[in-house]
Amino acid sequence: MPTAYPLAMRIRTSLALLLFALVAWPVRPAAQQAPSALIVRGVTLIDGNGGAPLANATVVVEGTRITQVSVGAVAAPAGAQVIDGRGKFLIPGLIDVHIHLAGGSGNRANTQPITAQQELAGVRALHTFLYAGVTTVFDAGNQGTFIFALREKSRAGAIVSPRIFATGGTVTSPGGHGGPFYIEAWPQDRAILDQHLAGKPDMVKIGQDEHGWGTRPLITQLPDDLLEKIIRYYHTKGIRSTIHISNEHNAVEAIYAGVDTLAHPVIQSPISANYVNMMKVKRVPTASTLTIGESYSRLADHPEYLDQPLYRDTMEPADIQRLKTTESSRMKDDRWAQWMKIMTPVAEDNLKRLNAVGKDIVACGTDRSSGADVHRELELIVAGGITPADAIVICTRNAARFLGRLDEFGTIEVGKLADLVLLTADPTVDINNAKRIELVIKDGQVIDRRKLDVVVNRRSAALK
Ligand SMILES: [Zn+2]
Repeated sequence: MPTAYPLAMRIRTSLALLLFALVAWPVRPAAQQAPSALIVRGVTLIDGNGGAPLANATVVVEGTRITQVSVGAVAAPAGAQVIDGRGKFLIPGLIDVHIHLAGGSGNRANTQPITAQQELAGVRALHTFLYAGVTTVFDAGNQGTFIFALREKSRAGAIVSPRIFATGGTVTSPGGHGGPFYIEAWPQDRAILDQHLAGKPDMVKIGQDEHGWGTRPLITQLPDDLLEKIIRYYHTKGIRSTIHISNEHNAVEAIYAGVDTLAHPVIQSPISANYVNMMKVKRVPTASTLTIGESYSRLADHPEYLDQPLYRDTMEPADIQRLKTTESSRMKDDRWAQWMKIMTPVAEDNLKRLNAVGKDIVACGTDRSSGADVHRELELIVAGGITPADAIVICTRNAARFLGRLDEFGTIEVGKLADLVLLTADPTVDINNAKRIELVIKDGQVIDRRKLDVVVNRRSAALK
């Protein structure tokens, strides 16, 4: 989370106002409950492991899981929905390992109650992910009550949403980046971690270096020995850790303090050969988070990107208009926008160098809150010199590895949860083809994209 808040907050505020103005959206489940089996036939399979695409493949799903992957004709299970995959491409559901879901009020404690308006904003943001083929998200810092409530509703099937993992509030030094769990003395402050643990976080997010990726003076940090004690404490509870760092020194110290993942790449400088070699050995999953930094100069220089279908379909016209006018001109003079315009290519190259020594290191994260941003992340990863085929791996398998969930999902293999996206063109030839989505399947259920609560569907419902 760099200095993104002012803009993001404004979007949230105007979104909230619009919510009041809109007629209540009819509550209908967007996932079809039956059938419990489906078969995709004749498809070109891109399984998420990075190998050559497999032509004329068949994928069988029974219940929530993939039960068969093979080439050629396979008998369909009784009652299975048959999906003709000829001329099409099947990839695993996309995963974003660094979001801050819209609707939450920042890194607040687990106790602040949430409003119906917040929940609606959150669900709508979640639907933009499904609409864009994103079937799993990790919220790396938010109001605990907000994100955990949505996570529980999602797990109970009470809302249609991508699979949600979340940290809730974040852990940091007093005066550090994030909060509200401030740790200074050990073991006295362990009770504060227990407050965080009470929300059942899937992972802990620790704020270590300064807000703004080098554009602000250094702030208070957790000493290395305290950082290690915090991480070890979460490990005794079976919980992984991620950390906000953006310079090489802090990344290395965090890794040797035992951190499991990095919430950002090194952004403040080109990484050293020593760092590349260290990562070749340690292979610490690293969230890519290029989109957040690049979004400001993009808005200044190329506001027309907001006319692309994924943005048009999922953002309110009034918000698009404001971004293209007021915000675009404001960003032309914004120092953060200028800094990230310089540093985004550095971060891209750092990620490319990591990917060259360990194909499982880089994981897709946007630090944003919408499905369209995940596709921008894919574009920026590729713009930095990583192949489209590897970018797909980064946004599927590697992201599941980041979450410690690769045994459960992230690739198209027998036994995994059936999170699948059917595309009408080959994303390994042109990453933009990942936007050509025909069908999204999560947990073996076809998601009806026309019933998701996104702008394009609300608009067409209003016309009826
Ligand atoms: Zn963040």
